[in-house]
Amino acid sequence: MATSVLPSTKMLASIKMLFANVLDFALPPRCAGCAGCAEIIDEVDGFCAECWVTLDWLGNGGCQRCGMPLEATDAELCGRCLAAPPPLDRMRAAVAYGPLSRVIALKLKYGRKIALARTMARYMAPLRGSDEDAILVPVPLHRRRLWWRGFNQSGLVAKQLGAQWQLPVDQHLLRRVRPTPPLKGMNETQRRTAVRGAFVTVDGRRIEGRTVILIDDVLTTGSTAAACAKALRKAGAGRVELISWARVVRPSLLMR
Ligand SMILES: [Zn+2]
Ligand SMILES: [Zn+2]
Repeated sequence: MATSVLPSTKMLASIKMLFANVLDFALPPRCAGCAGCAEIIDEVDGFCAECWVTLDWLGNGGCQRCGMPLEATDAELCGRCLAAPPPLDRMRAAVAYGPLSRVIALKLKYGRKIALARTMARYMAPLRGSDEDAILVPVPLHRRRLWWRGFNQSGLVAKQLGAQWQLPVDQHLLRRVRPTPPLKGMNETQRRTAVRGAFVTVDGRRIEGRTVILIDDVLTTGSTAAACAKALRKAGAGRVELISWARVVRPSLLMR
């Protein structure tokens, strides 16, 4: 029997992918922030000068534990961490949650602009702690949400960071066993109750005594991250850290 000369679906998909990659190199890099003008910039996965200045970069400063900008410059820890240390040993975010950082997160999550995971990872990469043997775990979605969306946005960012840092990424270790309601508008106690018991680990042996770096897109009050950290600690994690793209920061703490 003569073999078909028509390319298979799989072959077509790889041709498409090849062209997409070629286009990535052939086209000049565009700003990840400008929706309309898509300004051309010098480096890939970056922002133009105009977008750059609207972002509040947080970096590695602030409270040594939670990363929040500090009111007193000579302090190492913020008042909250001194009063009651959070279940996370170290938290960092690239930028404060604001109009542009929000759009970037939403475009990745709902607009399927997958390349934005690279942009986020690029600016989250310098925030890595010193542990050489850490394991990366994205904050998981409930399986129903994952099914609807088709991907976990934090998982995509974790993959990029894992490749850059050459650290393993485990997408299955932590599971969200029940869907959690939107936490917006809830006070801290309500949030804590809403996420209690929502996360479990699948096989604790892999993290016994190790540092786990949680990867998230947006950090609001940290209740979700705290629930994840508790589950990871219960499974034997030696240390739990978190690195996110954006985090909600009180405007008075941001210096302009
Ligand atoms: Zn721009
Ligand atoms: Zn703190």
